[in-house]
Parts: sequence; structure tokens; C-alpha cells
Amino acid sequence: MNSVTLYRKYRPKTFTEVIGQKHITDTLAQEVLTNKIGHAYLFCGTRGTGKTSVAKIFARAVNCLKLRENGDPCNECDACRGLLSGSVMDVLEIDAASNNGVDHVRELRNEVSFVPSAVKFRVYIIDEVHMMTSSAFNALLKTLEEPPAHAIFILATTEANKVPATIQSRCQRFDFRRLSGSDIVANLEKIAKQEGFSIEKDASNLIAVLSDGAMRDAISMLESVKSASEGNITTAITREILGVPSPEKYIELVYAIAENSIGDALTLSNEIINKSGDAASFANQLLEHFRDLAVCKNLSDPSDIIERPAEVVKKLQQQAEKFTNEKIILCMQKLCELIALGKSAALTKALIESGIVLLCA
Ligand SMILES: [Zn+2]
Repeated sequence: MNSVTLYRKYRPKTFTEVIGQKHITDTLAQEVLTNKIGHAYLFCGTRGTGKTSVAKIFARAVNCLKLRENGDPCNECDACRGLLSGSVMDVLEIDAASNNGVDHVRELRNEVSFVPSAVKFRVYIIDEVHMMTSSAFNALLKTLEEPPAHAIFILATTEANKVPATIQSRCQRFDFRRLSGSDIVANLEKIAKQEGFSIEKDASNLIAVLSDGAMRDAISMLESVKSASEGNITTAITREILGVPSPEKYIELVYAIAENSIGDALTLSNEIINKSGDAASFANQLLEHFRDLAVCKNLSDPSDIIERPAEVVKKLQQQAEKFTNEKIILCMQKLCELIALGKSAALTKALIESGIVLLCA
């Protein structure tokens, strides 16, 4: 049995293989082909959307000795192979979350003056760059103002709003999109096929919803579900392994809320939380449920917007009739408040229960 994780195995190695970010990969490939390579890039986007993968592909493309006609790195020449195996150390990944001080950036500034050892460009990929202290940002800015010709900086962040404008203005900015459910489903099915196992449509849909647009998360979920199933991933196994209560449980709970039956609502919430073991994901799922109700209530054909099995959509449509738009919005607002509260303190069961009581009011 191969010990390489599915995520590593199926990580894209060319611009063409990157899913869902064509607006970025096309531009970068074009820059490499026309030799209009910048010295500073800012990659923004939520986790698992491919920022680091694209940064690494770009780092190989700018150094590739046999660049393909479409701008993809060949992944076969000495430069590509050296960078892929790690024997060429001219692409440096720095995690700003743990190297965020001004001293680290000063070290980096000294380092930047050295010419690359084996390739044309030395590429610095600085992950989670928003975690830098302001003095570190100032030091970095000096480097970005006068970068040596052989250096390229790729700053990646999940929180672009925390990156100072002075830094942003020095960079070419790319915004990575959260992947669509259908992109994720298609990729999971492709991986399953290549690995020689099967996966039920509803199981891949479920993983897509849970991954919230992050391919990395989706593939790790696929991996854990796969190791627990024998050749065929069913929806039931997926729910079991990922600790997801069936949508019916949420439907039942929301009927209790519609009827203001506090007792039933509390009993059902407890059942769901005990199964998933996570109050925060419970609150998120419930919010998602009300969001889907809002869609069902106001659209005659919600199937394009809701990534759920047809029979669940039908049940949601029936349930939506029990609610006014006002009540749905009120429930969503209260859940949002609860989730925000949960980010500052742990979202405890007691907090959730008080929230459920409020929803029944
Ligand atoms: Zn190459």
C-alpha cells in the first residue's frame, strides 16, 4: 500500500491541472511565456483553494528549461526535477505564522541578495503573510521596493484585509475562488476512478458540502472515508465516518422550531451534537439548513443552487411552507450571532441550547 496521501498524490503539478482558478493560471502561464514575470505576487483566498500549489507550479515554470507551449512547467528537466524532489533549494516556503518577527524578515533580506544556486530565479513563498508584525511588514516592504533581479516573492494569505496597503500596492494580486461543489464532486470522482474504487453520488455531494469549497479538505475527507470502506464508498459510511447526522434529523429539528416546541428541539439538538461531537459544526449546518429553506421558499427550481439530493430538496420545499421569510431571516440572524460568539469563546452545548430556545420563540 502506497503511503503517499491522496492529497499529495493528486496535487496539481501544472497550471492545466489546477481546478477552478483558470483566471489566475492563464495569466501566470502567459506571463511566463512572454517573459513578463513580476517580482511580487499576492495570492488571496480561503484555505484549500490552491494558493500554495499554484505558487509551486509558478516557481517551476519560471525556472523550467523546457517550458511547454502553453506555459506549463515540463516537470522533467533538471530544474523541474530538482525543485520537485527538493534537491534544488531555490524555492523557499516560509510560514509567516511561526516566522512573523522582524528578525526573520531581516534574515530573509540578507538571504535574498544571494543568487540562486542551481536555477534562474529564487522564489520565496510566504504563507499566511497577514500574520507578520508591522515591523516585519516594514522590513519586507524595503525588500519589495528594490528586489534583486533573481528574486520572486509570492505572498499568500487567507486574510488579504490584514495585509498593509503599502505591501499590496507592490504586488500583483490574484484572488483564488472557493471551488464550486460540482468542481469538487468531479475531482473526487476522478480520483476514485483512478484509484479503482467507487463512490456514491450523494457521498461525494456530502463531502463537497462539508469541505466548503476547499479541495484539500475534500480530498482528506475522501481519504479517511476510503480507508474505512471496502472498494465502494456509500453515503451511509460517509456519514458515519465524518460524523454527519442525516439531513432528516435536521429537518425534524427545524419542524420542532417551526412549531415552537422547545422540548423536542432541545432533545433533537442534543442527539445531533452527540453524534457529530461538535457544537460549532452543528450551528453551521443548521444555518446552512435555514439558508436552503430561504432558497426553497423563494425559488421555484432551487436544484441549481442547493447541492443536495433531490429527495432532500423536496422535503425542504415542503418544510419551507411552514415558515415566513421573516422567521427564516430571524433564525439565520440568531444563528450567525451564535456562531460569531462561538469564535471568541468555545461554542458550548449550553450556548447552543440557549440559542435553540431563542429560535423557538
Ligand atoms: Zn522543466
